[in-house]
Amino acid sequence: MRFFSGSETIGILGGGQLGKMLLTTTRQWDITTKVMDPSDKAPGRIACNTFVVGDLMDYDQVIEFGQNVDILTIEIENVNTDALAALEEKGVKVYPQASVLKIIQNKCHQKQFYKSNHIPTAPFQLFDSKDALKDAVGKGAISFPFVWKSEAMGYDGYGVQIVRSNSDLERISKGACMAEDLVAIDKELGVIVCRSPKGESVCYPCVEMEFHPTANQVEYVLSPARISKTLEKKATDLALLVSQSFKHIGLLAVELFLTQEGELIVNEVAPRPHNSGHYSIEASYTSQFEQHIRAILDLPLGNTENKVAGVMVNLVGKEGYKGPVHYKNLEDILAIEGVNPHIYGKKETRPFRKMGHITIVNKNLDTAREIAEHVKETIEVITK
Ligand code: ADP
Repeated sequence: MRFFSGSETIGILGGGQLGKMLLTTTRQWDITTKVMDPSDKAPGRIACNTFVVGDLMDYDQVIEFGQNVDILTIEIENVNTDALAALEEKGVKVYPQASVLKIIQNKCHQKQFYKSNHIPTAPFQLFDSKDALKDAVGKGAISFPFVWKSEAMGYDGYGVQIVRSNSDLERISKGACMAEDLVAIDKELGVIVCRSPKGESVCYPCVEMEFHPTANQVEYVLSPARISKTLEKKATDLALLVSQSFKHIGLLAVELFLTQEGELIVNEVAPRPHNSGHYSIEASYTSQFEQHIRAILDLPLGNTENKVAGVMVNLVGKEGYKGPVHYKNLEDILAIEGVNPHIYGKKETRPFRKMGHITIVNKNLDTAREIAEHVKETIEVITK
């Protein structure tokens, strides 16, 4: 018996909402935690044992933070991976591993990884600067429309633009990037895989993501996805292939496109708890957060099946409001059966900032989706 109450310390780089939700499990199981985040107002601050303000990209600060923990994990990809590699050498268990994170952090390297591992993904070309991309367009090597993606980690679509004309091309940022074929998407799907150090892997059911038409953010996540059993199997097999290729440890959220031709391709992955798995807190036997903690502690992995259907709605700041946050009509939605709000605890709202999420559980997925739409129309994230 290796697991003793309070005997192991987990360090988490990042104290945002994902960190806060991971800490629910560490508190439940009496695991000592240390969290580092650049903001002293990080949502996770209230739920850990020790909180440190620090720069996640700074080599020395990450080393200083990580050297006294048993296991180090992340809730955001933008961390100093050289420091993680050095900590691994010192004997700290780092999950996801520094080498995996290094590939995933860079969108161009991630795409090359899929190509060399024969994982289906949209065709792409890499460029080391905006000028090189413009040159290729000028010579007719690439034609409009295409999808520009910055090499550097974007977030929620900020490093991604559809380029339809020369004027769109002028507006993109400088730096290394890729031009990806614009995919005619039928559905955006996601599968969360979890692997433990002893090599056990489990897969959550495939979910379906509905996007906000202009903000490029997920608006609803439906679990299970409204797809055939055959497609579900294809999606989970593909996600398992991706996870085995990376040999990552912990959660890996695999984002997939179902093309209008019925082909399934990988868009990108996130090696951490993911927005597409928030529904699992209420709708699954094991939440994604508990699963990640199980994996990094090399404990048996939990049942990933749904107990009930779940639809998650992101609670984002309403356009036109910036300042101290006020959740209008929260009481009204709480009166509806199966409605579970999660408020992250960010004090300031701004347009489209993720402030929380709400999971609607119901025996029937369509009913949950209807309630989700009503919830979305009722609650408003504004200022007073
Ligand atoms: P981020 O890492 O910022 O979330 P993504 O690569 O996931 O960026 O892209 C955000 C969204 O942009 C996707 O969910 C999808 O809706 C759209 N998108 C990305 N790549 C393509 C593509 N090749 N073709 C069509 N749409 C795309």
